[in-house]
Amino acid sequence: MENQAIINKNIRITGIVQGVGFRPFIFNLAKSHNLKGYVLNDTQGVLIEVEGEHDVINKFVNSIKTDAPIHSKIDNIMVDDGALKEFSGFEIKKSAANGSKNTNISPDLATCADCEKELFDKENFRFRYPFINCTNCGPRFSIINDVPYDRKNTSMKDFTMCEVCQKEYDDPSDRRFHAQPNACPACGPHYALYDNRRNKIEDKDPIAKATEFLKIGKIIAIKGLGGYHLAVDAQDNFAVKTLRDRKFREDKPFALMAKNIEMIKQVCYVNEKEEELLKSAASPIVLLERKESDLISNFVAPKHKTLGFMLPYMPAHKLILEHMPYIVMTSGNKSNEPVYYKDEDAFYHLKDIADYFLAHNREIVRRCDDSVVRVFNRRPQILRRSRGYVPFVLKTDIEFKKPALAVGAHLKNTFAYGFGNKIVVSHHIGDLDNLETYDAFVSGINDFSKIFDVIPEVIAHDMHPDYLSSQYSYDEKLPKVSVQHHHTHIAACMCENKLNEKVIGVAWDGTGLGADNTVWGSEILIADYKGFERAAHFDYLNLPGGEKAIAEPWRIALAALYDIYKEHLLDFNFAFLKNKDKEEVDFLIDILKKDVNIVKSCGIGRLFDAVSAILNVCGEVNYEGQAAIELEQAIDINVRDYKNYYDYVINYETKPYVASYKEIISQVVDDLIINKLGVGSISAKFHNTLAMIIFDIVLRLSRDTGINKIVLSGGAFQNIYLLHRVCQKLRKFEFEVYTHGNFPPNDGCISLGQLAIAGTRD
Ligand code: ZN
Ligand code: ZN
Ligand code: FE
Repeated sequence: MENQAIINKNIRITGIVQGVGFRPFIFNLAKSHNLKGYVLNDTQGVLIEVEGEHDVINKFVNSIKTDAPIHSKIDNIMVDDGALKEFSGFEIKKSAANGSKNTNISPDLATCADCEKELFDKENFRFRYPFINCTNCGPRFSIINDVPYDRKNTSMKDFTMCEVCQKEYDDPSDRRFHAQPNACPACGPHYALYDNRRNKIEDKDPIAKATEFLKIGKIIAIKGLGGYHLAVDAQDNFAVKTLRDRKFREDKPFALMAKNIEMIKQVCYVNEKEEELLKSAASPIVLLERKESDLISNFVAPKHKTLGFMLPYMPAHKLILEHMPYIVMTSGNKSNEPVYYKDEDAFYHLKDIADYFLAHNREIVRRCDDSVVRVFNRRPQILRRSRGYVPFVLKTDIEFKKPALAVGAHLKNTFAYGFGNKIVVSHHIGDLDNLETYDAFVSGINDFSKIFDVIPEVIAHDMHPDYLSSQYSYDEKLPKVSVQHHHTHIAACMCENKLNEKVIGVAWDGTGLGADNTVWGSEILIADYKGFERAAHFDYLNLPGGEKAIAEPWRIALAALYDIYKEHLLDFNFAFLKNKDKEEVDFLIDILKKDVNIVKSCGIGRLFDAVSAILNVCGEVNYEGQAAIELEQAIDINVRDYKNYYDYVINYETKPYVASYKEIISQVVDDLIINKLGVGSISAKFHNTLAMIIFDIVLRLSRDTGINKIVLSGGAFQNIYLLHRVCQKLRKFEFEVYTHGNFPPNDGCISLGQLAIAGTRD
């Protein structure tokens, strides 16, 4: 065969190519192709210069595409001609700091199988070392201070590698070659055990000691990847109950961690997709349908038919769960505060909750909660997008003429940046009315600006002037785009599904400020990025006493009933009113009569609240959305007849069209009081009715406009029964239905929608 001429090529690779074993992969690939040159990380990604024969270089580039490390994600490979330099070998060069920072940072990755093997291998010098990691696994996002992703830019900079670790790090054939967090018992971070007054408990194996404490029912605060967890034996009723009491967390379900997938299958139904998610590098909490079993304490998820499970994703978790089948792993915080991730804060705030602290001496650079995901129609649907998914950069069809910042909503806040044709959405920040969370929001905005090197020139915010995110944007001296909340929901779902045309958008959620200054939340819109028309909504419900009614749904129930029966509502002897103070009931009826001190809302969440309270499922909530969630959980799954729904009335004479709740509630009352139907059946019928109403209105609007694409967003679509019913009904009639998948349907998607709208405004 004739020899070809030696040529020089510059290969530029962008995407998630740092911190995922990319350079060693390139090094070995180049060696095996006998190519000369070098590879380096820079702020734009990976740069390769190679010299060799044309065909060989082609093969090399193809192998990059097909054989790239599992956790890498290549956005683009650009190959250019270069001048011949006559390299003598192939090497990995030191990272260069240059120009704009464009590289993607990898999310934190769950411990890989190779590292796990070493962790439990008595012969290995990292046997039981809880910080074992490699180029395929370990901390990333949670330890990075700056790009490029190099040890000196991470919180591993405090640990100098020993000779052995350094040798692995420098050896291109080693699986820890350039693994930035590389460490061993001799040189790396360590765990230590403390009591709740921060006295160190001397023990040569603090993790084993902590496990012993867990087994006798103690509560342990465990420092992890993105913050502290509170852990307790999930089979120990008393311990779980104690954790609830100390945390002031009455009903909200706790997340669980199981030893392995088999243990999860003992207590939950797990399909193939769910198993895949549980075992993925992101290792999220996966919501699973629970089996009848008494292996898990009933205090873990009272009234819930699902359990949230994750698998051990850090070596320390694996060591603890070696000897326990299940532990509760709930966020290390006090009721409404964000998860603590700094040692000082954790020790101070959790001292009355945890009995012991299992802490380590590697700094967590930024807080990052566990992500929450479920599988819907065989696709993952993220409900809380954080560890393992952030900070993935998304390519979009939207071209940002100016870099934009979107500050998100007030609750379940996330923020986002748009630049070029890219979008990066932050991790879950939380509810901004908490000072700590607000600080995390502000510092997060600056943090992302630094690591993605983007200086915003425009800010998108919610129309609601009281959202602290909106107020943050008012203080910035930049042009602003103010966006209506429900329009934003639809835009977010459109953006995720790469739709850029007029759609029928169903935005059903709790509350959001409407364009007419009233409270919306059952909106059906004709919308595109540029604007929207409010095409339909539910009737407004009365919220006597305003805000307070959201925490006490029984007040909304009373108001809805008053609307239908006036004072006669008392004749029904509703169970939910039995233990209510008579004076308070009379007072509420009085303000309803006089129509004073009442906020009106058409948020669908409030209708769920009213029905949930009337059925005595939940009249007072201690976490957001509880009444609606428990109403869904109450559905009798044996009632499979979807045709079983209430008569409903939609007024098509008005614009926008209005659906009426009165008929629905009076039939609910008939079923409850006269027909003595079970709560499970009534709840199913109620859900079916809402699905029918959406279908009815969509059908009508589609006839009006010719639009066939239906977009569903808003917190109400976290309700899987409703989502399922609506999708099924609409798809049967050949509508194209689009739902969320990579972003939550709740307000966690608002920053994404704001960006999409801001990016398409001229
Ligand atoms: Zn590994
Ligand atoms: Zn070492
Ligand atoms: Fe919302």
